[in-house]
Amino acid sequence: MDYQKILDEIYAEIKPELTRGKVADYIPALAEVPQEQFAMSLTLADGSFYSVGDSKQKFSIQSISKVFTFTLALDIYSKDLYKRVGVEPSGNPFNSLVQLEYEHGKPRNPFINAGAITVTDTLVSHYGSEEKTIQGIMDFLCLISANEELYFDPIVAASEMEHGDRNLALARLMRSFGNFENDVHETVLTYSKHCAITMNTEELSRAMLFLAFGGTDPITGKIITSPSRAKRINAVMLTCGHYDASGEFAFNVGLPGKSGVGGGIVATIPNKMSLSVWSPGLNKYGNSHAGTIALEKFTTKTELSIF
Ligand code: GLN
Repeated sequence: MDYQKILDEIYAEIKPELTRGKVADYIPALAEVPQEQFAMSLTLADGSFYSVGDSKQKFSIQSISKVFTFTLALDIYSKDLYKRVGVEPSGNPFNSLVQLEYEHGKPRNPFINAGAITVTDTLVSHYGSEEKTIQGIMDFLCLISANEELYFDPIVAASEMEHGDRNLALARLMRSFGNFENDVHETVLTYSKHCAITMNTEELSRAMLFLAFGGTDPITGKIITSPSRAKRINAVMLTCGHYDASGEFAFNVGLPGKSGVGGGIVATIPNKMSLSVWSPGLNKYGNSHAGTIALEKFTTKTELSIF
């Protein structure tokens, strides 16, 4: 298949969509990102990759980082992790507090904010401090992307903390139900820092490759996680990766995927490739507007949805 031609076509077709959607502004540092940008990359098992648009432009990966922290925590805690967080779609916005109250402080899944903050809490317990946890997450990300040059943006992390009342409230609510182990501020700071990691679509599609290939990086041969865990992480991406638009994403795109409010989306096509797309304008669910449409076009043109 001529992937470059398909990506070029998508880029040409997507241009009118770049003015639609709205850049996230509840984290002020993200509001400064110019909206009309677009990039898309895919990586194949032999290491070849294809890109279009601003694919070298770094952006804030935000909730895409939740895929990596979930993978790490699952490897550390195995099934015990599910005592703290479920695997059921929430049908609610990513930062909702309501469900958490009537479900006694156990978040529905690891990709809504409450669930991801819980996962971060388990990592802080494991590593022992905020600094060591961030180091552990960065080391893992460097391993899976075969790239030593990854960082988080301290300005974005600080901006999120300054406006982080909802996340702090979620953490405090979980603490009130006994589902929290560490200092609330330290844990939410750790969470904000891993959300503030900056990567481009080339790097992200490379980092997701192990999840398209049953947990083993097909380029280096390294086992990153077990086939069973890779299967489950993909399942949670499919059912929960786009919050209350997860059903729509499965319906229109048909791939396990995970979005972030920085405008990035990652997706896997099992045993074929991993993909990443970025465009900062978001739809009303907080998922990239043009990015979602680009992925829909990709699976339509290639007939490579999982269904
Ligand atoms: N860091 C963001 C937050 O906690 C992540 C949200 C997202 O990307 N959906 O609000």
